[in-house]
Order: sequence, then C-alpha cells, then structure tokens
Amino acid sequence: MAKPKPNPRRSYRRDVLWKRVRALGQPCWICGLPIPLDAPAGTPLAFELDELLPVSKGGDPADMANTAPAHRCCNQWRSDRSVSAVGRIRDEVRRRFGPWPSALAFCEGARAVSRGAKGKSAQVPVRHPKRRSGAL
Ligand SMILES: [Zn+2]
Repeated sequence: MAKPKPNPRRSYRRDVLWKRVRALGQPCWICGLPIPLDAPAGTPLAFELDELLPVSKGGDPADMANTAPAHRCCNQWRSDRSVSAVGRIRDEVRRRFGPWPSALAFCEGARAVSRGAKGKSAQVPVRHPKRRSGAL
C-alpha cells in the first residue's frame, strides 16, 4: 500500500500562521463581516484560514500572503473559485439583494447567483483559472 500523501495544511508553520491570523481579528475576506471567535470549529460561522490561491492549484497554505480569514460557510461556498470570481459574485449578490446582514445570508445569495450564472443572465463567470490576483 502506498504511503498516504502528507496533508500540506498540517505543518508547524501553518499552525503558527493560523493562530496569528485568527488573533488579528480581521473580517471574512469573502463576505466582509466579522468572524465570531467563539464559534466552535466546524460550525458555519467558525474561523477558517483560507488560501487565496487554493492548495489544489499550487498555493502555499503556510504563506501569510496567500491566506486570509473566512467563515467556514463562506469558505465552503467558495470552494476553489478564484479571488476575482469571488469578487464578481460578491458584487452581483450586492446588486441583486442589497447588503447582507449575516454570513449565512451572504452564502445563500452567493449560491443563488452562482446557480443563476448557468442561466440566461450569465454575467458572472464562475471560474477564471488563469487570473491570479493577490488583491483582497
Ligand atoms: Zn464570510
């Protein structure tokens, strides 16, 4: 049997970075709302350290420049969408539904917009694998 691949998210550098970013108390980079630090891990509002360029696309999970705080629900909705695709969908959610009162409301709007992108109002390209932006 082959040895299991090491998980790139499990490293001392990553753990230190996770704690450091969490302690900064910055808002979610996806929805822009504060992250309640008392939300238990694994629950929708929990703090997660997201990779701007996903690990699956070669991003370094232990590089501070490639990471940003996110709610678990926002991170799950985002999946491996690019930073620029997230920005376009966020703009479209705001345009269609107005400001969101919570991360959960944002995710609901974002799911609706990403589903709608397949239909006639395909103004929101969901994937742009060649565009890589470090902008938050
Ligand atoms: Zn969020």
